[in-house]
Amino acid sequence: MEKKVFKTENIKFKCKIPEIPLTRKELKNLLNYRIPCLCCGMEMLHPDIYSQLLDIKELSGPASEAIHILAPFEKIMHPVERQVFNMFKSMSAKYPDKNFKELLEMKRDIHELALVKIQSIIFNKISFYRRILPKKSARQLRKLMIKTNDIIFDPEPHKPFSRRIFIHKLKNILKNIENKKLKEEIIEIARRLPRSSDEVCAFVVKNSRKKSNIIALNLVHPSVGTFEHLLPKCMNGMNNSLNFALECSYCNNSRHHYPISVQIEENPYMPQNTQIQADKLISLCKKGLCKKEYITNLKHVLQTLSDGIISLDISKLSEIT
Ligand SMILES: [Zn+2]
Repeated sequence: MEKKVFKTENIKFKCKIPEIPLTRKELKNLLNYRIPCLCCGMEMLHPDIYSQLLDIKELSGPASEAIHILAPFEKIMHPVERQVFNMFKSMSAKYPDKNFKELLEMKRDIHELALVKIQSIIFNKISFYRRILPKKSARQLRKLMIKTNDIIFDPEPHKPFSRRIFIHKLKNILKNIENKKLKEEIIEIARRLPRSSDEVCAFVVKNSRKKSNIIALNLVHPSVGTFEHLLPKCMNGMNNSLNFALECSYCNNSRHHYPISVQIEENPYMPQNTQIQADKLISLCKKGLCKKEYITNLKHVLQTLSDGIISLDISKLSEIT
């Protein structure tokens, strides 16, 4: 335990500061050993390997070349991305000269129709709340829904629909509503709007507007390993390995600033997946590649922040001398 001595005028006192178990570099290095994500359990990619992909020009070229470069990452791609990658594989056999963007453009219309179908069901459900909301909010909601319908039913809208902006506007309309339950109910429905990471149709529509190399990177990006602040930064969570867990970029972005209990509600297998990661870390500890203190602290923090829902079994740590 590191001890710091502070001097005030005439008094000396000692203050214990918990020792940071792993440096950022040491924690990042763990991602070299096929660590599963704390939340979804999928194997993560080392961020440096992802960075190397940023400079590969061939990702903009014919799909067959890009597929060859991305093939080693297929097994760690998330389900939607893997489905799109497989779609590229079969399409590139038929259209060998086309790049990812051109292939997605060929598929856009059919996927856009599928996406609009899903979206319009959700928008109808949200519109229903005009009957319940106070007059002013109901009017604002009506306006937002008319504007949104204009975008999604227009084959060539001036600006494409953005789920993020829609939810932001909806939250603004609802911010003065006193009934918290009602507010959360409406936002929860809006959250069901498909994201490019949840539905192939949303991935195709969103990415068909991007450059080929960006589409290629987006197939891999959700798998990149990141440091998740267990206690969010906005709640004064520390910025070091006492508060960091290894999580894939998809899960990290999906959590926003919600407490771990909410993350578990949305990812019911998270408690099991945290154990799988802990077991992997313990096996690395046996090889001298991770530190016991990191795992002990992880157990303690997860247990506290999840109100006891996550209770890691780290008894095997005691076998390590
Ligand atoms: Zn994940």
